[in-house]
Amino acid sequence: MNVIDLHVHTTASDGTMSPAEVVRYAKEKGLRAIAITDHDTIEGIKEGLQEGNKLGLEVIPGVELSVDYPNGTMHLLGYLIDIYCSAFVEKLAVLQQARSERNQKMIEKLRGVGVEIDLAEVAAIAEEGQIGRPHFAQTMVNKGYVQNIPDAFDRYLRKGGPAYVEKFKLSPEEAINLIRTAGGVTVLAHPFTLNQPQPHEFDAVIGKLKQQGLEGIEVHCPKHSEGQKKFYRDVAQKYGLLITGGSDFHGLTKADVDLGEGYGDREPTYTIVEDMKNRSETRRKGP
Ligand code: AMP
Ligand code: FE
Ligand code: FE
Ligand code: ZN
Repeated sequence: MNVIDLHVHTTASDGTMSPAEVVRYAKEKGLRAIAITDHDTIEGIKEGLQEGNKLGLEVIPGVELSVDYPNGTMHLLGYLIDIYCSAFVEKLAVLQQARSERNQKMIEKLRGVGVEIDLAEVAAIAEEGQIGRPHFAQTMVNKGYVQNIPDAFDRYLRKGGPAYVEKFKLSPEEAINLIRTAGGVTVLAHPFTLNQPQPHEFDAVIGKLKQQGLEGIEVHCPKHSEGQKKFYRDVAQKYGLLITGGSDFHGLTKADVDLGEGYGDREPTYTIVEDMKNRSETRRKGP
């Protein structure tokens, strides 16, 4: 069995399965490896690794960093990071602090438009995990302000929406350097969210990221059409970047996407993990 999933969220961020549950689910589905890639946190990794060891499923320590990108949304995935790297852990703590200030501002903005929820309610949804907009959305569903999670985003929480507050973000270059410092490999997540329909403009963005140390593009993503996959694959090949993929599984937060699915061609295969390991190991040994 060679199926892998390199983009998976847990309750450590905005997924609805705990790290152990996700690993058990991956095992049931017969996957060979998953990468746990929570938003701006590595709190789920240890539990995932432990469960993976127990069940014989490979867990790749990862993270998904939101970075500053004015034209759209840019997320960078870091794979095979050393979760004990102090520079890395310290920077994540800065991001957590910024998130907690942002959460308070979102509560205030929601009040301004007649949605009365408080942070304790949102925190109860997030449980031990880091609070993000999907937890706000779920709270709003539970209290009857909106029909469902997408509705909460459309009406209030989307970028530019009435309750949206910008998140403090690293620059792409800072994020790539940070991932590299922790021994990791950086991959551009779901490139369609860059909102860059002009091929030459997308190409230019990738050229710059490559100079800054980008190593791969998430070509296989359930949201990509065949045409998009071909285009992203061509750009990846042009710049010598790894062609990766993952489902961006969130459990019930994104109920239409299942683990290890969403890319019928069953790519990428496990060889991509070996490529990434070679890169990460070479880096740790130094030049
Ligand atoms: P945050 O990191 O707090 O800004 O929350 C971002 C997360 O919200 C994303 O990773 C998605 O999981 C989720 N999200 C963003 N837009 C939507 C949407 N339109 N519908 C449902 N979930 C969304
Ligand atoms: Fe998410
Ligand atoms: Fe993302
Ligand atoms: Zn994601």
